[in-house]
Amino acid sequence: MAGRRLLIAVVTASAGLTLPAIAQSAAIAGPDAAAAHCSAGAHTLAPPGSRLYPETGNGGYTSLHTLVHLVYDAKANRFLRGTKVVLTDRATQCLRSFSLDLERHSPNKSAGPDLTVRSVMVNGRPARFRFVQPTYPGDPNGQNDPNPAAHEASQTNPVGGPHHNPLPPACTPELLSPKHPNALNGTQCPANKLVITPRAPLPKGSVFSVAVRYTGRPGVHNDGDGTTEGWFRSPDGGFVTTEPVATEDWMPLNDYPTAKPTYDVVDTVTAGRVVLANGKLLSVKHHPASREFPGGSVTWHWRSGAPVASYLVEDSIGKYTLTKRTTAKGITFYEAQDLAISPAKRKRNIAIMNKQRDITAFESRFNGPYPFKSDGVVIGTPNASFEEEMQTMITFAGGFINTDVLYHENMHQWWGDNVTESGYQMTFYKEGLATLAELLYHARLAAQAAGGGAKGRAAFQARMVHQFDGIYRQGGSFWTVAPSNPKPFGLFSFASTYGRPAAAYVALRQILGHRNFIRALHQMQATYGGGNINEAQLEAGFARWLPAHGPACRTRLSTFFGQWFDTAYPKGGRAHRPRITGPGLPGQNFYQPGGCMRG
Ligand SMILES: [Zn+2]
Repeated sequence: MAGRRLLIAVVTASAGLTLPAIAQSAAIAGPDAAAAHCSAGAHTLAPPGSRLYPETGNGGYTSLHTLVHLVYDAKANRFLRGTKVVLTDRATQCLRSFSLDLERHSPNKSAGPDLTVRSVMVNGRPARFRFVQPTYPGDPNGQNDPNPAAHEASQTNPVGGPHHNPLPPACTPELLSPKHPNALNGTQCPANKLVITPRAPLPKGSVFSVAVRYTGRPGVHNDGDGTTEGWFRSPDGGFVTTEPVATEDWMPLNDYPTAKPTYDVVDTVTAGRVVLANGKLLSVKHHPASREFPGGSVTWHWRSGAPVASYLVEDSIGKYTLTKRTTAKGITFYEAQDLAISPAKRKRNIAIMNKQRDITAFESRFNGPYPFKSDGVVIGTPNASFEEEMQTMITFAGGFINTDVLYHENMHQWWGDNVTESGYQMTFYKEGLATLAELLYHARLAAQAAGGGAKGRAAFQARMVHQFDGIYRQGGSFWTVAPSNPKPFGLFSFASTYGRPAAAYVALRQILGHRNFIRALHQMQATYGGGNINEAQLEAGFARWLPAHGPACRTRLSTFFGQWFDTAYPKGGRAHRPRITGPGLPGQNFYQPGGCMRG
């Protein structure tokens, strides 16, 4: 994601498991003998004590594949009967029940969702379902804790609020405005956990399908920073851009970044509308007039064989232009724009969208091969507060695209999309690398202006140092939040989530040397691609490419990471900021006499 605008100013479908074998044997041995060790799946994937969206994610199973089938009236902005999501999952424990995330209604009455679940089937058989509130992760009284204080929203841990609740938060407040971050601390969390109880427990290791049928109006989610994301109304349909959690405002899912199923999106929509989703477009079928669609309808089928993280699922529908080009390397590039954008602006936008192939080639030089079979951009008209790296279909809001942000979002295809953060506290990791792409772009421009060759390389390096300097000299409150420990209100603050980690990567490039820095990036793509990475893995991924080994250097590198990623400094900068940098940069050189020496 680039620039929450409010804050940046601060600087198999499961093949017929009708009656699981284990349940059949249980029927012979006695109804509860085999099911005795079965339990409910966890209603969260967040670690205990988390204050960043602790209400999201669901345990007890792995998400394998999801079929989205929207039946969408674009004029009325409504999902009609026939709309369903079919999730194929694998149980990682014997499950008596399990949960999904779905926000049916929100405090935002005008743009929020208004959805109704019609039925839930598990392995083709009707299942019971109900909605419950989240409980704070790690509650020793269990996730059905009768204590209302175990189900409260807050920016902080403990909750605090008017009743001084000493427990951790169960959810992040849905702020209707950014003016008062703590206004909703201590209020009750909404019941957005869809708990499903199948007829018989699901054995550990079994693959099962869950079909949720629902109808109504999709909408946006109000975040912990007061901005909105999700399904925005566009002139002729919808525009989807959802970080960090609002996919659950238009479809039920396991709403956590590490849940990464593959996707088929098969939407039937009002005739004349275009559907834009992840992966590649497989087919478009036109249908004659029907009761729901008097003017006819059309079904678009997109498929992503690569897994997609919860907040990167794209499904925009409307009067969009759509073109594609396939390169010699076999990557298909899609370009889409809302027709409500004026022809002059669209022409200007196309000139920038056409740079995506070159940007992808440039970024591949640092990251390694592009990880997907397609890439693309959709420019929508709603005034969403940010641009986002939707996997293979980057979203630009407000009818406008710019080159810096395209470098940023395209870099995310490797960092965030292919190698996803292990949790929201790792947002800085991928935003720092995406911001680094903007710095690399400006260094590239400097190299071109210098005429390339040796002069170009020198100009490239000088611009990198200059840009590091610009960040490093920041004062005020720039260094006061540790990138790995923000509050929900500051999750997308420029200082801690974008600028500071980007500068850390510039310093790492100096410490490791350009060639080793790139080797580290390549290796992390190869090791964690299609999955996720945590902070220890990220740091180890760089540490193994230190040119100078030995305990003193290892220790100094972990001190470096502690300063740059994990420390909240007092206000003011200067003495109150990370001190260790790299050769050629202001600050303390990583390599010091008496300590870590370059070998
Ligand atoms: Zn970003």
